[in-house]
Amino acid sequence: MRIYADNAATTRMSRAALDAMIPCLEEQYGNPSSLYSLGQRAKEALELARQDVAAVIGASPKEITFTSGGSEADNQALRSAAALGKKAGKTHIISTAFEHHAILHTLAALEKEGFTVTLLPVHENGIVRVEDVEAALRDDTCLVSVMYANNEIGTVQPVRAIGALCRRRGVLFHTDAVQAVPHLRIDVEADNIDLLSASAHKFHGPKGVGFLYARKGVRLTSLIEGGAQERGKRAGTENVPGIVGMSAALKETAENLEAATARLLPLRDRLIAGLREIPHSALNGDEEKRLPGNVNFCFEGIEGESLLLLLDDRGICASSGSACTSGSLDPSHVLLAIGRVHDVAHGSLRLTLGEDATEAEVDYIIQNVKEVVAYLRGFSPVWRDLESGKTPHIL
Ligand SMILES: *Cc1c(COP(=O)(O)O)cnc(C)c1O
Repeated sequence: MRIYADNAATTRMSRAALDAMIPCLEEQYGNPSSLYSLGQRAKEALELARQDVAAVIGASPKEITFTSGGSEADNQALRSAAALGKKAGKTHIISTAFEHHAILHTLAALEKEGFTVTLLPVHENGIVRVEDVEAALRDDTCLVSVMYANNEIGTVQPVRAIGALCRRRGVLFHTDAVQAVPHLRIDVEADNIDLLSASAHKFHGPKGVGFLYARKGVRLTSLIEGGAQERGKRAGTENVPGIVGMSAALKETAENLEAATARLLPLRDRLIAGLREIPHSALNGDEEKRLPGNVNFCFEGIEGESLLLLLDDRGICASSGSACTSGSLDPSHVLLAIGRVHDVAHGSLRLTLGEDATEAEVDYIIQNVKEVVAYLRGFSPVWRDLESGKTPHIL
């Protein structure tokens, strides 16, 4: 048995994406910049994909730039807005404490280059408050960047209201919508979005391809020097198979969106209810305003890594907030941002269900997480201290 419950990390490619890609690799392998018909057919496929991608988010094709994925789109969005800001003498940027590292690390780099960054709190429920954005706005603010939905705890942000506020104040608004695009209806007009990042492998497309939406008039800075591809905004021969696969995956995702949500919501809530039965556990992030497949829990007295390894032995692919970097175990910045203390943040588990998940799989996950948590607590000194009352329970 293998249950893949890590769809926020990546997804399996859809048959539609694969079927769309194979002809681009086998027969229509031309370079879109070539003038003969083989190249021009690749160019047509590329532009058709651009139209299809644009339509899904209510954009026009010229507003879509293809990138190598979500990270590149995030980097380019921030760098472009920063360059525009600098030209206008505005060097203040507002974002949040629980963004993806593609955002946080780019902001850190921009700080070194002279920009000032305000990272807003996301509160206990994992949601940014519009009032906080408003209070942080300054005369020299050039950009607000708030993710549409968080990749760890799945919380959905009040993007439309933040966008409206930015529009009123004449500040560019970017949203990292990498996790939202697979699950939510996005309309860049209604949502007041100026810049938006997305990534194909999060919605059953291929890895290494994504797109950046930039509203007409928002000038992008190219991160890569070279040819004039992507209207001079992204040099390098286009990843035609990847882009075509992405557009096929996105179209299918958009067509099935409501049906997938209707299937996922009861499964998600069943999983949450089941895991809540584990003593001294807590759901991370708002229970309602979260993505339909996302479940994220903290369990006291255990290490997320051990939990993952034992779940893997039982055929369950899941993820934990903590990442082992250079030997030191850093707890998730997202869990810290919602106020979890280090010890508790270490014992986290993220399960992100795919559209094809079943009730039987959810029940299998619940049963096995219960067993593994009890087993690990059985020889955890931290748990012994908690149970003997030597240290107080937090959850
Ligand atoms: C996965 C992810 C990214 C990075 O996308 P890549 O295509 O893997 O570079 C950025 N932001 C969020 C919220 C993500 O979940």
